Amino acid sequence: CNKKDQCQKKAKEFCDLCLKPALLDYVHKHLRLEVIENFQNSDNYKQYHTFLLKELLEEGVFENYLQYIKNYEEYAKKVKLADVEKYCLSKIVKKVKPVVKSAKEENVTGKVFEPFDKFFDISKNDIVISKESLGMILFLNQENISQFADNILYYIDEMVKDLVSQFEENGSVEEKLSNLPIKPQNELFKKVFGCGKQCPFCKVLCEARGDGHTEHWAEIHHPKGLSSPCLELKTDVCSTIVNSKAQFSNSDTKGTFYPYKYYRDYYPNWKIAGDSSIQASDYWKYVFAKFNEKFAEVCDALKADIPADWNRSTQEKAMESLKA
Ligand SMILES: [Zn+2]
Ligand SMILES: [Zn+2]
Repeated sequence: CNKKDQCQKKAKEFCDLCLKPALLDYVHKHLRLEVIENFQNSDNYKQYHTFLLKELLEEGVFENYLQYIKNYEEYAKKVKLADVEKYCLSKIVKKVKPVVKSAKEENVTGKVFEPFDKFFDISKNDIVISKESLGMILFLNQENISQFADNILYYIDEMVKDLVSQFEENGSVEEKLSNLPIKPQNELFKKVFGCGKQCPFCKVLCEARGDGHTEHWAEIHHPKGLSSPCLELKTDVCSTIVNSKAQFSNSDTKGTFYPYKYYRDYYPNWKIAGDSSIQASDYWKYVFAKFNEKFAEVCDALKADIPADWNRSTQEKAMESLKA
């Protein structure tokens, strides 16, 4: 039993002192590369955006939606970076585990160092493990490599869980990256999200691609009323409103009312295609109906008059509409 404990202790030390720093180092080095390689084409923008909306829907937390709408850039950067980190980690763990497993299958009795020598050969291009600290840990003859490898596999899983929650924690990510010469989250944002401008009325993100485009637009706008200030939430989308006689007032108009029809007087760089047939997507119908009260509270406004069919919308339908 003593021996078993010893074996576990060694495996944990190996993971904590050798493997963990090596993996973290790998993740840091590869972040920027992943960002650039994988998010260069604009299809990825749509994919990523859909991924974000899906995640929001699954979590179903109002505050997350609020953050998404009010400050999309911050929201996307935060989530995205943790995702890339998780992705990098899973990539290297996928390489490390089979090496440990093969050491286990060989089931050599004798010095533990020998089968693990292979470990360095295979992993040396990806991760750097200090042989010195390893030597200190593996100085004992291990009678049962198989048991040792099993323990390592167990602690790898534990370590991954730890690291993932570390990635997801706010702040720690920023801290880790502050040493990098180029901030990957900014680079990524530029590549994936284009200009990052939001519709002045509904806060939907500009979908125009290419550096230096002069006109911002989006195919489908959110239901209005998610931007403040307003007296009463509205379910109309911008495309309908700019075709109507309605008026808006906000800090840009210094509180005076101005016809939506002439929105370009205030926002010359936005092009909102006027089309009264365009409705909110099933996704936003569901979200808006579900959180009507909360949105109203936050905007200090009256609840919106939700059309009957919006109230019938379901999470499944919302999810469906993302696939379309
Ligand atoms: Zn809009
Ligand atoms: Zn734009």
